[in-house]
Amino acid sequence: MIKKKIPAAPSIRRLPSYLHLIRQAQSDGFEFISATTIANELVLEPIQVRKDLAMTGITGKPKRGYSVIKLITAIEHFLGWDSVKNAILIGAGNLGTALTGYQEFVKHGLVFVAAFDNNEEKIGTIIHNVPVYSFDDLKTKLKRLNVSIAVLTVPSSQAQAITDKLVEAGIKAIWNFTNIKLKVPENVVVQRDDLTSGYALLSFVLGKAD
Ligand code: NAD
Repeated sequence: MIKKKIPAAPSIRRLPSYLHLIRQAQSDGFEFISATTIANELVLEPIQVRKDLAMTGITGKPKRGYSVIKLITAIEHFLGWDSVKNAILIGAGNLGTALTGYQEFVKHGLVFVAAFDNNEEKIGTIIHNVPVYSFDDLKTKLKRLNVSIAVLTVPSSQAQAITDKLVEAGIKAIWNFTNIKLKVPENVVVQRDDLTSGYALLSFVLGKAD
């Protein structure tokens, strides 16, 4: 859930799939790509694609479409994927460990610099090159880590209390994977994501196919 409103969220959510497709076109040797091609591949309306791409400030050439190289640069810059953002993980469990090992994040500038947990057996270990510290040391460690984002993968019962401490420590962006709708001040942005909603769609479609 978003407390501080993110403008054009649906359009922003579509940009990574455009980028994936455009990169594919680049490796296939194409110099230009049209909004219609992107729309056809992703089953969208060309006008929607043009509108989404216009957000990035890029304009296409009539009949040729968009320069593939310029489009990749424009989307990456618009998303902030061309700059490094240090992240910390709170909760070095199953999901947290999987997220730190996902190399695509690094390609998009998201670098996990530390993880925090309250389990003595995990504190002092390293997961996917990320050191796990005690959550009690959060404030001290944050001072030298220049962190932009906290990724929350603790049990839901712990989420709000931990969030309060993150906010107190100066964190301004939280990627929340717990089931809790977090209460945060206006100046903190929270993005909540849930794999269950994707599964719900699949399950629904399967149910209809029976
Ligand atoms: P897990 O039990 O494997 O990991 C949780 C970790 O949090 C553990 O390492 C635990 O020691 C740590 N922890 C617990 N209390 C803490 C505290 N007070 N301070 C610091 N660390 C603490 O659980 P998991 O399967 O990785 O799931 C983690 C969270 O992610 C849960 O809230 C779960 O519901 C959620 N989840 C969400 C999705 C999604 O799609 N959004 C998918 C899977 C799991």
